[in-house]
Amino acid sequence: MISANENFTRIPENYIFAEVARRLAEYKKEHPESDVISLGIGDVTLPLPYPISRAMAEAALDMSTPCGFRGYPPDGGYPFLREKIAARYADFGVALSQDEILVSDGAKSDLAAFHELFDFSCAMQSTPAYPVFGESCLLRGKRLVSLPATRENEFLPLPPKDFPLGGCLISICSPANPTGTAYDRAGLSALVDFALKSGSLIIFDCAYEAYIRDDLPHSIFEIPEAKYCAVEIGSFSKFAGMTGVRCSWCAIPRELRIGGTEVRALWSRRQNMKFNGVSYIIQRGAEAALSDECKPLLRANIDYYMENAAIIADVLRRHGIYFSGGRNSPYLWLRCGDSRGFFEALLHAGVVGTPGSGFGALGEGYFRLTAFATRENTIKAAARLDKFLQSDNNFTSYNP
Ligand SMILES: *Cc1c(COP(=O)(O)O)cnc(C)c1O
Repeated sequence: MISANENFTRIPENYIFAEVARRLAEYKKEHPESDVISLGIGDVTLPLPYPISRAMAEAALDMSTPCGFRGYPPDGGYPFLREKIAARYADFGVALSQDEILVSDGAKSDLAAFHELFDFSCAMQSTPAYPVFGESCLLRGKRLVSLPATRENEFLPLPPKDFPLGGCLISICSPANPTGTAYDRAGLSALVDFALKSGSLIIFDCAYEAYIRDDLPHSIFEIPEAKYCAVEIGSFSKFAGMTGVRCSWCAIPRELRIGGTEVRALWSRRQNMKFNGVSYIIQRGAEAALSDECKPLLRANIDYYMENAAIIADVLRRHGIYFSGGRNSPYLWLRCGDSRGFFEALLHAGVVGTPGSGFGALGEGYFRLTAFATRENTIKAAARLDKFLQSDNNFTSYNP
């Protein structure tokens, strides 16, 4: 007899996102004339830069030629791509060789799988969070500890003092989704020190690294000691607009060992066991994303989103609404009181966002707006938000 994995009961279904979708559909039915604008989009929206599509098309056509045909890709990815990713690290002053980069089909699947390599006493993550790491650890029956990201710590929690358990697996995302905040060197150094002292390992998600505007670290390996206690998961999704194409990487320094075993070797073994690699066509597309030809095109797309973020931030600032993000990330995380009430009120004003409680109990009291809508819609939505916040009533009820 088999039964469902009991641990599924530890991961509540996320009712908020379903409820938001249902409520939006209902509202549109009740108000067929309304043109509600969504600032709740958590996905890129601009088309792929042409050189990426061209590289994929050429690779696809190559596959029909005797000398261009490729079967299973090599373990860890094609050297042409791994070298390009390593070269990007060199731009940040981080020395990684191509054999320390392992190509995957998405940061999400890597964040969900990495814990499989280890035995550990507990998982730790900054909360509210992108849920995949924490939920995967819960599914395995592990204890999950939150590092609360709050207004008091500017949504950049530092490691706990006198934490009793050694050997945690710690997930950190910077710039973070949903709070939009990014660690500085001192913050990352404190996390690295904690990991080294407690025998923990950091899984660093740098999916939004390309959105950083200020002088902040783009990689945890900018902290030199991180190579003894961290892996980094990067993605072409938000950086190159490739969410629908699927390509990512895991950077694992050779120095990173657990009980004498190279973590890089463990990950490689796990991947070879469960994963047959990323398609040649997509790896060629990712290579093109890292070309000099693409660099200004990707920059322009990210600048476009960040200009949207600035338009929304400007309205919030003018009304004295407390928020984080919007400067080094495409997310704005604003204080709103009851987040579902705020959702409903803003919906009636013609703008949709995401209640903070969708990212866990610690997200309650906040609301996420994103910079991924078109410029035209962002300007329209910002004007609606402005008008909505102008009412004294709204201001006092949502900025307690
Ligand atoms: C979008 C996103 C990713 C990227 O995931 P992929 O599977 O590579 O598309 C990773 N982490 C966070 C926090 C994200 O929001």
